[in-house]
Amino acid sequence: QSALEVLDLDFSYITGNPVLRNIDFKIEKGEMLSIVGKNGAGKSTLSNLICGFINPDRGNILLNGADIADKSIKERGEVIGLVMQNPNQMISKPMIFDEVALGLAVRGVPEAEIKERVHETLKICGLYPFRNWPISALSFGQKKRVTIASILVMNPEVLILDEPTAGQDFRHYTEIMEFLKELNDRLGITIIMITHDMHLMLEYTDRAIVIADGEMIADDIPARVLTSEAIADKAYLKKTSLYD
Ligand code: ADP
Ligand code: MG
Ligand code: MG
Repeated sequence: QSALEVLDLDFSYITGNPVLRNIDFKIEKGEMLSIVGKNGAGKSTLSNLICGFINPDRGNILLNGADIADKSIKERGEVIGLVMQNPNQMISKPMIFDEVALGLAVRGVPEAEIKERVHETLKICGLYPFRNWPISALSFGQKKRVTIASILVMNPEVLILDEPTAGQDFRHYTEIMEFLKELNDRLGITIIMITHDMHLMLEYTDRAIVIADGEMIADDIPARVLTSEAIADKAYLKKTSLYD
């Protein structure tokens, strides 16, 4: 049974102007893969469809084998966690502890359990020493980890990260990616990375789904995606600034 199946999906914001067409793929439990494509390809739209912020015109989305068409955003959120591109979009509390505790608090989890789960998650994320710090004192990379922690604390089976390394310097880039790899190895969390970063795709993911102009043009191992000039061209895969 696959963790996530997207079956023959179509979507348009405006009738007659399709943004995604015939999107069809399966993701197995414990996979770490990338969804790549240039700006405007439809990547964020796809993650919003999976999380239920918008609904497909056609096709199905299955989680652990079951169709989630009638599941609410909140119900999907119990299984799938979405880390948005800009951490500032996600942060709503001044203090680290409160931010990471928020999702549990709104679900009415008892205070003692919240404390235990938040502390454990902060340890996993290397943020425990900062638990009583204000978020404003953190670097961009650390803020990113707070947003990842605020999702992880909910114990998602699938983690989707939209451009996880955008705007990071080399140290934070490596820190975040090594951390995600460890989560995947150690906790078996299925990780979907939305990116146009070739280095990330090659170094950290086993498979890449390539979207160009709303259509899937490849579902393959990253090395083959890059060595096919037609695909790399259409996907507008950029050389990472790390090696420029
Ligand atoms: P990506 O994340 O790959 O950069 P998006 O999913 O954000 O691409 O966008 C795909 C296409 O849908 C783009 O042409 C974009 O302009 C359009 N689009 C995105 N959001 C909306 C919206 N809320 N209303 C109308 N069009 C949108
Ligand atoms: Mg975009
Ligand atoms: Mg996007």
